[in-house]
Amino acid sequence: MTVTGPSRREQLATALHTLHTRIDAACSSVGRPPDGVTLVVVTKFFPASDVRLLAELGVRHVGENRHQEASVKREECRDLDLAWHFIGQLQSNKAAAVGGWADVVQSVDRVRLLAPLSRAADERGRPLDVLVQVSLDEDRRGAAGDRSGAVPDQVPSLAAEVAAASGLRLRGVMGVAPMGGDPAAAFARLAAAGAQVRAEVPSATWLSAGMSGDLEQAIRVGATHVRVGTAVLGNRPGRV
Ligand SMILES: *Cc1c(COP(=O)(O)O)cnc(C)c1O
Repeated sequence: MTVTGPSRREQLATALHTLHTRIDAACSSVGRPPDGVTLVVVTKFFPASDVRLLAELGVRHVGENRHQEASVKREECRDLDLAWHFIGQLQSNKAAAVGGWADVVQSVDRVRLLAPLSRAADERGRPLDVLVQVSLDEDRRGAAGDRSGAVPDQVPSLAAEVAAASGLRLRGVMGVAPMGGDPAAAFARLAAAGAQVRAEVPSATWLSAGMSGDLEQAIRVGATHVRVGTAVLGNRPGRV
C-alpha cells in the first residue's frame, strides 16, 4: 500500500531539502555553483503518485530503469512538466520503445542501440538526448565484471556514432561506480572519458555520476547530473 497523503509529501519534502543541502555543500567545497548540478530523482519501483508529489515539490527530472514500468508511469504523469531519463540496461529489442517516451537515454553502451533509438526519435519528431554509459569497472573480464557500459577504449568511437545519428543528440557520458571500489577513482576515469568525448564534440558537456551514497565524490570531479533514488524516496520496495 502506498501512502499518498500529507505525510508522504512531508517526508519527500524533508528528504529533498536534506539532499539539496548535501549537493550545495559538495559544490561549495570545490567552488562550484550549485545550479551546475541537475538532480535526477530515480523513481524506479515507486508509484506515479510519488512522481506527482516530487513534481509538486519542484523536481524536474526523474530517472527510470525499466521500459515497462516507466512507460506506464510516464503515461500517468503526462500532464507534469518533467524530463524522463532512462538509466537502465537497455535491451536492443526495447530500444525503439524507450526512444518513444524518454527525453534522455543515459545508458547507451553499444552501437546496436543507435538505429532503433534514432528511428524512434525521428518518428516522434523530437531529438533524443543521449549519454554514453562508460564501464567504470577496472576489470571487465570474468562473470562479475560483465556490467553494463562501454569500456573506455570504445567510448570515443561510440560517441562519434551517436553524434552522427539522425535524431540523437550526444550530451556526454554516464557512469556507475563499481560496488566496493573507490568511487572517487572510478569517477575520475569517467571524467577522463568525458573529456575525451568533449574534445571531439564540444557540446557533449554532461557528466552523469553519483547516486545516494557517492554524490559528493561525483560533484568533486565535475558531475553535472546526479541520479538519486534512496536518499529521496527511501528504500525501494521489493527488489533493488
Ligand atoms: C537505481 C539507480 C540509481 C539510484 O541509486 P540510489 O543509490 O538509490 O540513489 C542511480 N543510477 C542508476 C543507474 C540506478 O540504476
